[in-house]
Amino acid sequence: MIKWLLTLGIVVLALLLWFGKGRSGGAAGPGAPRRRAPGPQAMVSCAHCGLHLPQPDALEGEGGRHYCSAEHRRLGPR
Ligand SMILES: [Zn+2]
Repeated sequence: MIKWLLTLGIVVLALLLWFGKGRSGGAAGPGAPRRRAPGPQAMVSCAHCGLHLPQPDALEGEGGRHYCSAEHRRLGPR
């Protein structure tokens, strides 16, 4: 009896996996990376060299200035 239930469980699991796979395969994967860059990112320019970069990647310096690297932050605004 237990053996039979186990077999049934495996079959149900296999069916679930099969249908889950079939569904996600069609629409380019609903689990695809959707979280990053939902819209236009805020861009800032480096106060030293003027390079434009996304604000999350920029280093913040004195006076709310942004820098592209620690080196340019050390050198300060030009
Ligand atoms: Zn720079």
